[in-house]
Amino acid sequence: MSRYFTPELAALEPYTPGEQPQNRQYIKLNTNENPYPPAPGVAAAVAEAAQKLALYSDPESGALTKAAAEWFGVKPENILCGNGSDENLMLAIRAFCAKDRPLAFADVTYGFYPVWCQLFGIPQAVLPLREDFTLDPADYYGLDSAKNAGAIVIANPNAPTGLALPARALAEIARRNPNAVVIVDEAYVDFGGESCVPFVQRGEPANLMVVQTFSKSRSLAGGRLGLCIAPQPLIADLKRVKYSMNPYNINRMTEAAGVAALADRAYFEQNCAAIRATRADAAQRLRQMGFTVLDSSTNFVFARTPRMPGGELYRRLKDKGVLVRHFDAPRLTDWLRITIGSPEQMQGFFAALEEILGR
Ligand SMILES: *Cc1c(COP(=O)(O)O)cnc(C)c1O
Repeated sequence: MSRYFTPELAALEPYTPGEQPQNRQYIKLNTNENPYPPAPGVAAAVAEAAQKLALYSDPESGALTKAAAEWFGVKPENILCGNGSDENLMLAIRAFCAKDRPLAFADVTYGFYPVWCQLFGIPQAVLPLREDFTLDPADYYGLDSAKNAGAIVIANPNAPTGLALPARALAEIARRNPNAVVIVDEAYVDFGGESCVPFVQRGEPANLMVVQTFSKSRSLAGGRLGLCIAPQPLIADLKRVKYSMNPYNINRMTEAAGVAALADRAYFEQNCAAIRATRADAAQRLRQMGFTVLDSSTNFVFARTPRMPGGELYRRLKDKGVLVRHFDAPRLTDWLRITIGSPEQMQGFFAALEEILGR
């Protein structure tokens, strides 16, 4: 920190992204990327868009907004494209929370939520999950009055646990907090969760916002693209903030990639089905080896073994060229989050695991 850095942010603890090693070739199961390439039409669409790089991109991302509205069965005014879902989440937290309007979220969930709170000077209302990592919706009722919450953010399915709630539980939380916005982070919904988009189609509850990403189920993590699907007045609020920060937030190549990805429904469905099948095999095999594995609705499994602490197993797998994610947090030290890779990658993972733990 230089002496010029604002003291206001002296205590800020930035988000720590999962390792992205550039030197050694790992079997990389640590950041929930998709093991398969994007839809076959994406590369040509990106190359064509690159021809026009001298011109600014469309600040409304009109072509992608229209394609997304059709995909989700809503109107274009119900869609906002973001530079990753991270940007849409940040815009929403900036728009709906303030120093006297906390953000409420679970103690075990996506690690970026508390970072945005620190960055924007927003207090955090942290609600512990149950002992088994399930979320009790009743804990979230009435937070708009009890805590004066400006927004509640719930990852559904959750990360890093992989556990999911039915969509109606989220809608009920929104109804029980009429003075706050409920942001449902559906980064993993395509792998088995139940989406809240049908509530946006109906326009009820009016305070329910869905955020999705192309990073996981559409193999575009490096393209940085997310979508917010919400009632029009909430999208308009996010746009006010977006146009005060970064109007050209989606570059030409990424917008083209998004349109091409949405155009190929068959590829998308096949990709998600392949991940689900590999996930079922991996969970079964881990359980056979004595692991506890939470029921996953995502493209990762959350697991622990009584035979070795999570941190040690993480390090020994890394020594053998396999990267998984370990979180150094009180409730999570025993656990590993293992991204579902291709069947070949999972073979490599299990070979390393058996060398470490025995058969
Ligand atoms: C991966 C992830 C994101 C971020 O997605 P990007 O679109 O890559 O920014 C947001 N929320 C959760 C829960 C995630 O796991």
